[in-house]
Amino acid sequence: MQQKPTKRRSAADQDKIIVAALRDAGRPVSAYELIDQVKGTGVTAPPTVYRALQRLIDDGLAHRLESLNAFVACNHPHHANKAVFAICDACGAVTEFDSASAIKALQTWAKGAEFQVRSMTLELRGKCKACAAAGSAAG
Ligand SMILES: [Zn+2]
Ligand SMILES: [Zn+2]
Repeated sequence: MQQKPTKRRSAADQDKIIVAALRDAGRPVSAYELIDQVKGTGVTAPPTVYRALQRLIDDGLAHRLESLNAFVACNHPHHANKAVFAICDACGAVTEFDSASAIKALQTWAKGAEFQVRSMTLELRGKCKACAAAGSAAG
């Protein structure tokens, strides 16, 4: 027998639960991992989780990492620019930063080429400082 959730969560509640789960994870998580993590909170249906994620992304509270197909909580709740990410392939650490000049250069090119930008993904893949240091120490 399936148990019904005791009460329906409002969209705002759902968003809070999802963003808290992302922050708790402290690393990029897939939608599946996220759905698993919020089990028992009343936010269980995958479409509900996806809708909440989309709202959070629209509001700039979360970001989607295209190359990992994963989501992270935003580190800078007030940034106006598109976020740029540096992703360590060795330990999975993700560093979010702003690069207004890089984004401006891309927008300038798009304007010049009359290219209509639908989305912009800026992700650097490689090794973080700690992993690079550990790698060179190991020889
Ligand atoms: Zn951000
Ligand atoms: Zn690393």
